[in-house]
Amino acid sequence: MAETKSGGVRRQDDLAKRPGESDEQSAQRTAIARRLAHIRRKVIVLSGKGGVGKSTVAANIAVAAAQAGVRTGLLDVDIHGPSIPRLLGLEGVRASAEGDHLLPVPAGENLKVMSIGFLVGGRDQPIIWRGPMKFSMIRQFLADVDWGELDLLVIDCPPGTGDEPLSVVQLIRDADGAIVVTTPQKLAVDDVRRAVTFCRELSLPILGVIENMSGFACPKCGEVSEVFGSGGGESMAADMQIPFIGRIPIDPRISASGDAGRPAVAEAGAVAGAEVFLRAAEIAAGR
Ligand code: ADP
Repeated sequence: MAETKSGGVRRQDDLAKRPGESDEQSAQRTAIARRLAHIRRKVIVLSGKGGVGKSTVAANIAVAAAQAGVRTGLLDVDIHGPSIPRLLGLEGVRASAEGDHLLPVPAGENLKVMSIGFLVGGRDQPIIWRGPMKFSMIRQFLADVDWGELDLLVIDCPPGTGDEPLSVVQLIRDADGAIVVTTPQKLAVDDVRRAVTFCRELSLPILGVIENMSGFACPKCGEVSEVFGSGGGESMAADMQIPFIGRIPIDPRISASGDAGRPAVAEAGAVAGAEVFLRAAEIAAGR
């Protein structure tokens, strides 16, 4: 990685072999760039830590964009907890290969999905890879998926700001930006500050912050009560001068729809915060 003048880290966009890189690594990085060249926009969904609803947001953004006619791909690179197959009702599906490339799984009109969960393990099998194996897996995976032409690729990144999200952001060259998901509590907001700094150091534009699990929406009357407080993500966004997309309350229908494999925006009745998913999809698609 190259240091910028400000001490941050700059993504290297050239295809030339880098110092310390093996021939195989260099070839894979070039292959990733070629695969992703047919995709108009690439948006990475990030969170400061796990369990804040990152995958739920990524799945709903992808489905909302596809419903709006955007040719969308959803890529799940969360190698320890790939939850996209469950959220989209694709558990147990196995990716098929054609020649040297992997084919994404169609999930309704305008949507293709690829998850590490389609390649390895079953639901009860933890994925145990260490250090270099993890990175070569991520690199290989990104290099092998043949998306064809897409308007938008939504990438569900591993949580946090450690080595795994770092390698994803570095390998996906010229991503258009990140959508950062947080919950309102102080601790989560502190984590997300680190995620914002992480994006800045990698020159990854922040398209906006979503405050998820912001209050509880009563399934009977729809009234939102502030169980964990709310507004932490919004004030952090103002403080760090990044766009705030909106708040999504805890709504049992959001978790039930995820469990049932149909993201909330694909259900008939609007859930609390549905407009935030739709707005985030528009932002991701560059509309
Ligand atoms: P992450 O990807 O950050 O680990 P997930 O998207 O897997 O988080 O969400 C964790 C759990 O919380 C899931 O069971 C999901 O259905 C639930 N969940 C996420 N957002 C909401 C919400 N706004 N209301 C209710 N349940 C939610």
